[in-house]
Amino acid sequence: MPFSCQLCESSDEWLFAQRYCAKCRRIKKLLNLYGQDVYNCLEQVFVRDDKQQDYKKTDEIKKTYSDVLKNIKSKTIHKEK
Ligand SMILES: [Zn+2]
Repeated sequence: MPFSCQLCESSDEWLFAQRYCAKCRRIKKLLNLYGQDVYNCLEQVFVRDDKQQDYKKTDEIKKTYSDVLKNIKSKTIHKEK
């Protein structure tokens, strides 16, 4: 007997051996990888009005992009030594 996703409860995907749809499994993987950062990001980005959300999304993307660039630079510098 197929079941609907236990997290979003709105997926069109019918599940036979899994509890979550593909999108919710992706969310679960991100939670496993980033833990509390995911909760903080959701609270800081989505618990706002539309204008504030747009501003925060742009800000979070800039921060993430900046962190990724720092990691790449530090790994590159580390390898050069
Ligand atoms: Zn789902």
